[in-house]
Amino acid sequence: MVQELSTADETLWLGNKKPYYFFGPCSAESREQVMETAKGIAANFDQVIFRAGIWKPRTRPGTFEGVGVKGLDWLKEVKETFGFKITTEVATAKHLEACLKAEMDVVWIGARTTVNPFSVQEIADALEGVQIPVFVKNPIYPDLSLWLGAIERIQKAGIKQVGVIHRGFQLQDNGPYRNNPFWDLAIRLRSKYPNIPMICDVSHISGTPDLLEHVAQKAIDLDMDGLMIETHVFPEKALSDSQQQVNPELLNQIVAQLTPKNKVSTNAAFKTNLERLREQIDLVDDELLEKLAVRMQLAKQIGIDKKQNNVTILQIERWKRTLERSLKNGTSLGLSTKFLEGMLHLIHDESIRKQTDSLE
Ligand code: PEP
Ligand code: MN
Repeated sequence: MVQELSTADETLWLGNKKPYYFFGPCSAESREQVMETAKGIAANFDQVIFRAGIWKPRTRPGTFEGVGVKGLDWLKEVKETFGFKITTEVATAKHLEACLKAEMDVVWIGARTTVNPFSVQEIADALEGVQIPVFVKNPIYPDLSLWLGAIERIQKAGIKQVGVIHRGFQLQDNGPYRNNPFWDLAIRLRSKYPNIPMICDVSHISGTPDLLEHVAQKAIDLDMDGLMIETHVFPEKALSDSQQQVNPELLNQIVAQLTPKNKVSTNAAFKTNLERLREQIDLVDDELLEKLAVRMQLAKQIGIDKKQNNVTILQIERWKRTLERSLKNGTSLGLSTKFLEGMLHLIHDESIRKQTDSLE
């Protein structure tokens, strides 16, 4: 489902086809495993950035921690044999130096490293004076500033080709996912840096092959620039992330199922209709804001009255009734409970703030 692009798109520095495909095993385990996996992928894909972890950040010692520098030779062989670009994760300046020596095309900074500004700065210092594309995975926790901070440290080191990888977050509730995609946060990063390519690490979000197609399609619908999918010639024998890897045949089947999406359409009727609907949305948004302002004014007046009568601001019984009432009304209008709860809590928090301010 690759799209050939000829326009001057600022995010096209990894090739002229999108989405960028970052395929390959979680870890390089042996020369044979790496080469056989690459061969399987090459049967169906040409423009691939072949990934394999060489140094694996593991939570506890004693588990497989990667094969180390010898794996770099196997990646080099993949590049020579199949013409793929190659990439691996770097967590220290030493890793980076070894990658530069091995002529790695791209490196990425992992989620456990992005959380630590000292480690990111160490890598940034080692990047001074060199040019290599660097992708920054989101930190494990949903902290946008940590992610932005890591990107900015790499940019400050003079790296021009910086990308990001959305691999999901560890939240209290991850739903069916290994890491909660929390798409909102990825969208916020996109709005801040629209020209930085964003890859979706579908495997680390999904944690299981069953969810890969759904997550990959969602990433495409959100206009992400590429997909990272862990691929292993024998997933069941993998030394890391065995439960989420797919073999090259299944990878091909999943990618074949995806529907490509365009940024724009040439269909005139669609465009006119879209414009008309958006005008209506703008009007509704204006009305919503006006109504919210009125609501806040009313809350403020109540705050003044409560103060004069020595009554507490928080009236939990009233809040519970308001919430129940609006949830009932909202759901009967077709709005989801999750959305309503989020919105109503935000509104109530702001009302409390307004009433507290009116005490000062
Ligand atoms: C990986 O890509 O194999 C990996 C360790 O990912 P993350 O840093 O997202 O956990
Ligand atoms: Mn992995």
